[in-house]
Amino acid sequence: GQKVVLITGCSSGIGLRIAVLLARDEKKGYHVIATMRDLRKKDKLVEAAGNCYGKTLTLLPLDVCSDESVKKCIDSVKDRHVDILINNAGIGLLGPLESISMEEMKRVFETNFFGVVRMIKEVMPDMKKRRSGHIVVMSSVMGLQGVVFNDVYTASKFAMEGFCESLAVQLLKFNVNLSMIEPGPVHTEFETKMMDDVSKMEYPGTDAETVRYFKDVYLPSSIDIFEAMGQTPQDIARCTKKIIESSQPRFRNLTNSLYTPIVAMKYADETGGLSVHAFYNLLFNFGPLMHMAMSILKCLTCSCLRRRTIFPD
Ligand code: NAD
Repeated sequence: GQKVVLITGCSSGIGLRIAVLLARDEKKGYHVIATMRDLRKKDKLVEAAGNCYGKTLTLLPLDVCSDESVKKCIDSVKDRHVDILINNAGIGLLGPLESISMEEMKRVFETNFFGVVRMIKEVMPDMKKRRSGHIVVMSSVMGLQGVVFNDVYTASKFAMEGFCESLAVQLLKFNVNLSMIEPGPVHTEFETKMMDDVSKMEYPGTDAETVRYFKDVYLPSSIDIFEAMGQTPQDIARCTKKIIESSQPRFRNLTNSLYTPIVAMKYADETGGLSVHAFYNLLFNFGPLMHMAMSILKCLTCSCLRRRTIFPD
C-alpha cells in the first residue's frame, strides 16, 4: 500500500521539492503530508504539485517550535500513522559571534535541534510499536565539519548528528531506520534569506578587523563556493527518494562528492589540526585563489569518491 510520508517546512526549497517528487511518484507509492508553519504560503507548493494536490499530497499546518502545533498535527493524521518522517525545516545564521544575540542563537537551536527532537518524540513511539518506520533528518555538511562564521548554525547541526547517532542504535532494535542527509550548498531561499540578513547586519560589539574578515574575505569566497558547488533542491529531493527507497538505508548520506575529501580529511586526523589549518589557509592565504581551488577540486573528483556519496542521478 501507500506509505505515509510527513515532511516539515514544505513552503519552499528542499522540503517543497521532496513533497512534489514523492507525490508525483509513478507508482503512487506515497501519500505525502506536506506541512508548513503558515498555510497562506501554500501557493508555490500547490502549483508545483499540480493535479497531485488533494490526491497523493495533502497539507497540514505545523510549527516545529511549538509542542501544541506538533501534537495537533500528528493527532490529525489518520491513526497517527506516519511511515516516513522527513525533518527538513531549518534556519541559518551567519556572522561574527559578537554580532549575534543569545536570543537569535536560541532560535536556531529551537528550530534546527529541538524542532527535530520534538517531531521524533511525537512519532517514534508509534513507529517502535509497529516495528517499522524511517526517520530522515536534513542535516548538512556543516553537521560534520565546522565552518568559520557559521559557528552556531554548525553547532545546531552537530547537535542533531550526535542526537541521531545515539538514537539510531536503539531504533535499529525496533526495526526503525534513521538517516541523515548532509548536503553542501543548495540554491534555495535559505541562501537568499541569509544574504538578506547579512546585508541588514550592524555588527554591534564587533571589532573592525573581524568585520573586515567576515565581509571582505569570508563572504566573497562563500558566494564563490555556492556558485561552484551548489546543488539544486531537486537534486536533494532525488537523493532523499533514493534513501527512503533503499533496502538498507545508510546512516550518513553526503549528496555532493566535492565534500567527501573534506569529511575524509577530518576523520584522517583525530587531532583536528589538519582541518583547522586547511580551512585557515583556504580563507586567509588563498582567498583570491579560492575560485581556482574549487575548479581543481571539481576536476579531481573521481568515481571512487562518487561511490561514497548518494547521488541524485
Ligand atoms: P528554505 O529556507 O527554503 O526552507 C526551510 C523551510 O523551513 C522554510 O519553508 C521555512 O518556512 C521552514 N521553517 C523554518 N522554521 C520553521 C518552523 N519553526 N516550523 C516549520 N517550518 C519552519 O531552505 P532550504 O535550503 O530548503 O532548507 C531546508 C533544510 O536544508 C534546512 O534544515 C537547512 O538547514 C538544510 N540545508 C540547507 C542547505 C542550503 O545550502 N540551502 C545546505 C545544507 C542543509
